Amino acid sequence: MLSFDPEKVSLPVGHYIDGQHVQSQGAAFAVKRPSDGRIYATLHEADAADVDRAVQIAHQALKSSGWSGCAPRERGRVLRRWADLIEQDSLLAQLEALGSTRPISDVAQHEIPFTAEAIRFYAECADKYSGDLFPTRDSSLGMLIAEPYGVIGAITPWNFPLSMASWKCGPALAAGNAVVLKPSELTPFSTVRMAELALQAGLPAGVLNIVQGSGAVTGHALVTHPLVRKVSFTGSTLTGARIMSDVAQHGMKPVTLELGGKSPQLVFDDAGDIEVLAQRILRGFTANGGQACVAGTRLIVQRAIAAPLLDRLAALCRSVQPGATWHGDSRYAPLIDERQGNKVASVIAAAKAQGAEVLVGGERFADTEAGWFWQPTLLCGVAQDNPAVQQEIFGPVLTVQTFDDEEEGLRLAAHDTYGLCAGVHTLSLPRAMRAMRAIDAGTVWINRYGRSGDFIIPTGGFLGSGIGKDLGRQAFQACQRQKSVLIDF
Ligand code: NAD
Repeated sequence: MLSFDPEKVSLPVGHYIDGQHVQSQGAAFAVKRPSDGRIYATLHEADAADVDRAVQIAHQALKSSGWSGCAPRERGRVLRRWADLIEQDSLLAQLEALGSTRPISDVAQHEIPFTAEAIRFYAECADKYSGDLFPTRDSSLGMLIAEPYGVIGAITPWNFPLSMASWKCGPALAAGNAVVLKPSELTPFSTVRMAELALQAGLPAGVLNIVQGSGAVTGHALVTHPLVRKVSFTGSTLTGARIMSDVAQHGMKPVTLELGGKSPQLVFDDAGDIEVLAQRILRGFTANGGQACVAGTRLIVQRAIAAPLLDRLAALCRSVQPGATWHGDSRYAPLIDERQGNKVASVIAAAKAQGAEVLVGGERFADTEAGWFWQPTLLCGVAQDNPAVQQEIFGPVLTVQTFDDEEEGLRLAAHDTYGLCAGVHTLSLPRAMRAMRAIDAGTVWINRYGRSGDFIIPTGGFLGSGIGKDLGRQAFQACQRQKSVLIDF
C-alpha cells in the first residue's frame, strides 16, 4: 500500500532561501537514485556568493521576524505544528525513500515519526533552560542568561537525511537561532520539503534556509562564513577533522561533531536466548544496509555460544531480500552508490588478504539491476589489526571475534580510533556494569542495540567519533550561549 511510482514524485529543485526556491549558476551535479543508480535530477551547487546570500538572509530574518526575541512558547507552538505537518506529508516520505537508501516502509515507520518526535521534543525545551539566578557575596544579583547564537550552520550526511536535519534544526530553532543547512549532495530533496513545511507551520521566511552542493565548495563556504556563529556537523571523522581545522583558520566558533563509528557487540555466554540475540545482532549491523554511524559491526562473542549464535545469524543473513525503496514490501536498504559498493568490496578483499574467511555473503546481490544491494556478510578469523576490524566500512559487514574470559573480551572491544557506541549482552548486572565502565564509547546499550526514538537521552561519540552531543536537553543548551550578568541596585 505504501508503494509509489518513482517517476511521479515532484522534486523541489534548487536551494531554499528566504522561503523561496532559488536556482544558482554554480557547478552542476547529478543526483542518483540508490535503488537503481539512475540519475533523476541535476542541481547547481551554491558557491560562496550563494552561501553568503543565504547566511545574510538568515541573519536579517532573525532581526526582522522577531524569532529570537519572541516568547519561547511561541517558538514551541510553531515547532509542534511543523512536526504535525511532517507526519502528514506523503510527498516528504516519498522524497526520502526515493533519494535515500531507506525503504518506504522504514521511512513511514521510523524516519518520519522519529523526525517529528525529535522536533516535538525541542518544542518542549523552548521555554525551559533559559538561565539561572545566583546570590552574590555583596547582595547584588547574579544572573546567567541563555541567548541564541544567531545563525547556525548545519551540515548533514546522506544516511538519515530527515532525522539528521531534525536533530540539527530542532534544538537550534527552539533556542531562537536561524539555520542554514547543507544536506548531503547525494540526498538533497527531502530536506527542502521539510523546510517548505516549516514555512507552512509559521516559521518566518529566512529563518531556515537550505543550500545544495558539495562539501568542498558549499560546505566550506558555510562553516567558514563569519556570520555563522556555530557549526553543527554530522558526517565522517575525516570531514569532521577538516571542518575543525578550516573553522579555526577563520576565527573562533563552537563546532559540534557527530562522526563515524566501529562499534562492538560484546556477547557473553550468559546473554540469554540465541534467537533473540541473533535478531538483535542482525538488526545492529544491517539496518540501513549497514550505513549507520551506530552500526554494531564488530561481534565479539564468548566461545561457548559462538557456534550456535553464528549458525542462527548466518541463516538470518541468507534470508534477507533486496528490493527498491519505493516498493512497500522492501525491507532491506541498498548501498548509497557505486563508490560505496567499491569501498565495501575493497575492504572485504583486504580483510581476506589478511586471513579473514567469509562465512556468509561477501558479494553484491546478483538479482538486482543497477542498485548496489550488498549481501549481509559475516567475516570470521579476523585479527584485531585486520582492516575490516579497524575501518568504518559503512556496509552490512560484521567481523566475528571470539574470547574466553571477560578481560580478553574487553580488550577486543576497545578501539583506537572510534568510540561512538557499544552493545553489551549479558544477564549478569555486575558484569554489564564492569563492561559499561571499561568501554570507551559515548553510548553503551545493555541487552539491546539502538535507541528507538528516545530523544531525551543525548548521543555523541568519544575519541574520533566526535565532540559534543546531539539530542537531549544538552543539544538544546549547546545552541544557546551563556551570558553572565551582575547587577548592583
Ligand atoms: P561525509 O563526511 O563525506 O559528508 C558529510 C557532509 O559533510 C556532507 O553534506 C558533505 O557534503 C559535507 N562535507 C564534506 N566535506 C566538507 C567540507 N570540507 N566542509 C564542509 N562540509 C563538508 O560523510 P557521509 O559519507 O555523508 O556520511 C557518512 C558518515 O557520517 C559516516 O562516517 C557516519 O558514521 C557518519 N555519521 C555519523 C552520525 C553520528 O551521529 N555520529 C550520524 C550519521 C552519520
